Amino acid sequence: SLGTDQMKGHNQISFLIVLSILYGHNPKSNRKIEFPDLPGYKTLVCDLHMHSVFSDGSVWPDIRVQEAIRDGLDVIATTEHIEYQPWKDDIPHPDRNRSYEYHSNFAKNSNVLVLNGSEITRDMPPGHANAIFIKDANKLITEDPLDAYLEARKQDAFIFWNHPYWASQSPDASVPLSAMHKNLIEKGLIEGIEIVNDTTFSNEALQIALDYNLTILGTSDIHGIVDWQYRIPSGGHRPVTLVFAREKTKTSLKRSLQKGQTVVWFKKKLIGKGDFLIPLINSTLEVKSAKYFTNTTVAHVTISNNSDAPYTLRNHSEYDFYNLTDLVMIPAHGEVNIDVRTIEKLRKFTLQFEVLNALTAPKTHPVIDIIVRVKQ
Ligand code: ZN
Repeated sequence: SLGTDQMKGHNQISFLIVLSILYGHNPKSNRKIEFPDLPGYKTLVCDLHMHSVFSDGSVWPDIRVQEAIRDGLDVIATTEHIEYQPWKDDIPHPDRNRSYEYHSNFAKNSNVLVLNGSEITRDMPPGHANAIFIKDANKLITEDPLDAYLEARKQDAFIFWNHPYWASQSPDASVPLSAMHKNLIEKGLIEGIEIVNDTTFSNEALQIALDYNLTILGTSDIHGIVDWQYRIPSGGHRPVTLVFAREKTKTSLKRSLQKGQTVVWFKKKLIGKGDFLIPLINSTLEVKSAKYFTNTTVAHVTISNNSDAPYTLRNHSEYDFYNLTDLVMIPAHGEVNIDVRTIEKLRKFTLQFEVLNALTAPKTHPVIDIIVRVKQ
């Protein structure tokens, strides 16, 4: 009857209000990976390495796209193995662009940009590499691995070395950088390197990225289901590469990758070259208020964090704190109160912190300055 329907509608509205009140206290109630843009740049959340049933993955492309939408990704690349096709007898795969076409179609009405790519899958050396922004994956089927790289270059791809420290190809998980790799790097046939792949990280790969000026990348290389692999329901996240691009287009993205404008987000840590990592951290932190307690020279400072990164900061300032030790934690999408002993009353002072959950080189944490202007 009419009365019951009205009641039902009323109850649904009350339920929604209760939900919004509950979640209103938690500004970050979704799984979307969120980092702010930088002045002049869009921060694009990218996962540039993944598999579906079109190589050795376990899911159809619609699931990959759904996962990407749920994670708030801007960009994914389809990177099926060229040479490794274990399901080929049951899922024949004569046209190697089908994975890209399916992913693109499923992503048509979403904000996810899909790149055509392929994983050149060879013994070490050269090991595995992804060529992305390719035009025709079929032409990467070659005998000599070098020919696959050259074909990718002909198609104006961006090419990066995958998991160079993979224990299946390098038992001690070191990076077996060979003359062949150096040659590929020199010829511009390797332009980037994974320092993070799935659940693994390599200091050596990071050092090689810095030494050879390669673009720093982190990818999921997901084969199964993102939710299970990264424990999304318990607050986990997949590794991604944040790319700082002028705009969200394939052209701008490729140029930014070639220029190395990236930061990797891995197990709630940020890893990248300082020229983008430090501005990124700065853009996530904001002094919300600063005021001296009455009749004291202790300034009450509130700093907020509008990113997914929970910060652990070590105090390098010339001041110490009334309410904290030298370690300061700022939760993701939260804030911290720091009571600063400035000894005399200042209109303006600088806090300096080492960011322990970020890396600009092996064992090297960036140092940031936060300028505080005190309300008089
Ligand atoms: Zn892979």
